[in-house]
Amino acid sequence: MFLLFGLKTVLNELPGRPATCQYCGQFVHHRLQEHATKFTLFFIPVFTTSKTYRTACSNCGQTSVIKSRQKKALAW
Ligand SMILES: [Zn+2]
Repeated sequence: MFLLFGLKTVLNELPGRPATCQYCGQFVHHRLQEHATKFTLFFIPVFTTSKTYRTACSNCGQTSVIKSRQKKALAW
């Protein structure tokens, strides 16, 4: 029997919100991205194995990885 499986990372843009950037110190809008790693079987996503969240400053472009608890505070 032939099984084809693997992992795939799916990028999802979530609505961000204004916050103070820890790098440039400006109070600007921050984009929020969800990086979900999915287990695939025959290239079809079956279930999500892990999720990480990143914020990106719209002023300086610096990104930082945040925990899901911090993401709940950032999302609307
Ligand atoms: Zn910044």
